[in-house]
Amino acid sequence: MHSYATPYNIVADEQPDLPVWCFRPERVTAAAKWFREKFPGEPFYAVKANPGEHVLEALWEAGVRSFDTASLPEIELIHRKFPGARMAFLHPVKNRRAIQRAYHEFGVRIFVTDTMQELYKILEETGYAKDLTIIVRIAVSCDGAALPLAGKFGASAEDATEILREARRYADELGVSFHVGSQAMKPTAWWTAMADVSRIIIAASVTVDIVDVGGGFPSIYADNPPPSLEDYAAMVEQAFENMYVLENAELWCEPGRALVAESESLLTRIEQVRDDAIYINDGSYGALYDAVHERWSFPMRALPGDGRNLGRLVEYTVYGPTCDSTDKFPAKVWLPAGLVEGDYVEFGNLGAYGRAMSSRFNGFGATEVARVHDAPWPSLYNAVGAEVISIGASGTR
Ligand SMILES: *Cc1c(COP(=O)(O)O)cnc(C)c1O
Repeated sequence: MHSYATPYNIVADEQPDLPVWCFRPERVTAAAKWFREKFPGEPFYAVKANPGEHVLEALWEAGVRSFDTASLPEIELIHRKFPGARMAFLHPVKNRRAIQRAYHEFGVRIFVTDTMQELYKILEETGYAKDLTIIVRIAVSCDGAALPLAGKFGASAEDATEILREARRYADELGVSFHVGSQAMKPTAWWTAMADVSRIIIAASVTVDIVDVGGGFPSIYADNPPPSLEDYAAMVEQAFENMYVLENAELWCEPGRALVAESESLLTRIEQVRDDAIYINDGSYGALYDAVHERWSFPMRALPGDGRNLGRLVEYTVYGPTCDSTDKFPAKVWLPAGLVEGDYVEFGNLGAYGRAMSSRFNGFGATEVARVHDAPWPSLYNAVGAEVISIGASGTR
């Protein structure tokens, strides 16, 4: 992978035709370091947020050893890259053969369920193995999440009570989990969820070895900054102390977005300008899915193709590259006046659910990757990452 001081150097040296992922490994290091030092439990990285191999390698180098996987391809990927990794198979609806192969071929011992049927499926396909960790996923409120995940998965309080009792008969270790939704803006969501889950454990009167508080920890975008991550850690720690679980119970979490969002930006090329509209080479079927479909405000900046100084900000309509008329930003964006074909627009903090969501629809979606070392976007990790994040801050231009 080529390395550049900043994306400005990529533009000057390469004038790239494909969108370029600008990978900032220091950001992965800072995020992983924060979870290791400040979060009171073990992080299982949610692979779906960004399965890029360079991202996975940076996480591994930063000490992440546990992975939240949801499918056989994710399990195979992690197993191939890191044979010693601990994997949890945390999709509540699993294919039978996938369970069998996960257990027998790939050494997976941690499985989630939110129904009695799935519990028996896991037991049958592993041959009633004696070394299973069974996690019962419980439905909780998604109050304050930008992307709520309630409704699809999670056992009701009543069902969870029964599943917990039955799972306890077979599991070597028994856990509970929940998911408060993605980009959860209120730390109190964990307080409420953990109190609810604790009541369910009391009702089931089972011993619980693991409390997995899921993902949902936020990143920072162009609008609506979240509370500090320390607030989330403090809330989880307090709520955990109040829970009805074994004295030595383990605390786990499943961060996706919070570990990788800051690690990549996407450098797109302007292919045409028509009045106040720009046509760029990535869009709603590519890495900018959330920008279009979820009205996500990624931080942006324009980079001149020829090094000229850019003017004051004006509003532009932004179109993606495919022939689909919905491939268009839902609102106008502010960028410098006078942009022309061959200028570039960079979208920041796109490391979570950017690459991962990209399709090849209409022949678009191919990208390149380059390493860069500047720090243009807001970060939630300034406290622990201060020395790395200042790299390149005074770099070229
Ligand atoms: C998507 C997902 C995560 C990661 O969520 P983030 O909001 O990216 O932290 C964690 N656990 C499960 C089960 C998920 O489906």
